[in-house]
Amino acid sequence: MRRFACACVLCCATSVAVADERVTIQPKVAKPGDAVLVIVTGAAEAPRGKAGDKPLRFARAKQGYQALFAIAFDADSQPIAIKVDGIDRRVAVRDKDFPETDVIVEDEYANPPAAERKRIDEDNHAIIAALTKTDTGPQFTRAFRRPRGEVTSTFGEWRTFNDGHRSQHLGLDLFAREGSPVRAANAGTVTLVRDTFLAGTVVVIAHGNGIGTAYFHLSANDVAEGDVVQAGEVIGRAGHTGRATGPHLHLGVHVPGGFVDPVTFARLPVSPAAPMSARRSIRRAR
Ligand SMILES: [Zn+2]
Repeated sequence: MRRFACACVLCCATSVAVADERVTIQPKVAKPGDAVLVIVTGAAEAPRGKAGDKPLRFARAKQGYQALFAIAFDADSQPIAIKVDGIDRRVAVRDKDFPETDVIVEDEYANPPAAERKRIDEDNHAIIAALTKTDTGPQFTRAFRRPRGEVTSTFGEWRTFNDGHRSQHLGLDLFAREGSPVRAANAGTVTLVRDTFLAGTVVVIAHGNGIGTAYFHLSANDVAEGDVVQAGEVIGRAGHTGRATGPHLHLGVHVPGGFVDPVTFARLPVSPAAPMSARRSIRRAR
């Protein structure tokens, strides 16, 4: 009997890959303002999935695919259902009481005149547009690193200003000397350099795959819109422009769904680094 040359290598490989598709979530328990990373390994093609009712945007990682989403500040403590290629996972959500502080600033910043309020709206719109201008795949090849510096104000803190109005702090404040270098948290493209009313001189970097970082209150910028920057490259100098009580760096991190805590974000293996499941199987194989 004639034996046909085996043409099923790809078929077999494909069916094995589908059967081996694994979905892991980090962290398994999150709080409002956390980023959640969905890691898919063993998928034959780009996975399709949702977190709650929002579609997940997967990008290729060194092994498998990854997608990120933000837990909204107003999320209740119900678990969020994650469905990827028919595989069900969930992330538990725990309440968090964010700290409260009083902040005294110059009156023009606590009570901006009408003309400045228009400018503030335009600034905010431009910052969000620049952070979400990430229609490319990941432009980074290394893990994200939060800039060095002592934390002077945490993410999500409630602030009450002079006149009693409250707002939530959407970034991480790090002590920095006036004029000290500010470095890109990862590789990407500069999508905004702008002199704003509240955030002072701002640089925004879009890193691809829906991830953006923003650097506020700079005394100077060393980059221009459209520049491609590498991880750790100096993009500006720290300062206290805009509504700031002293020189510091405000770092904002934005992923699909909103701003997230840069500290917990930096702990996620968001990068072409091997996902945990692959690391475990490598260890087992030894
Ligand atoms: Zn800040």
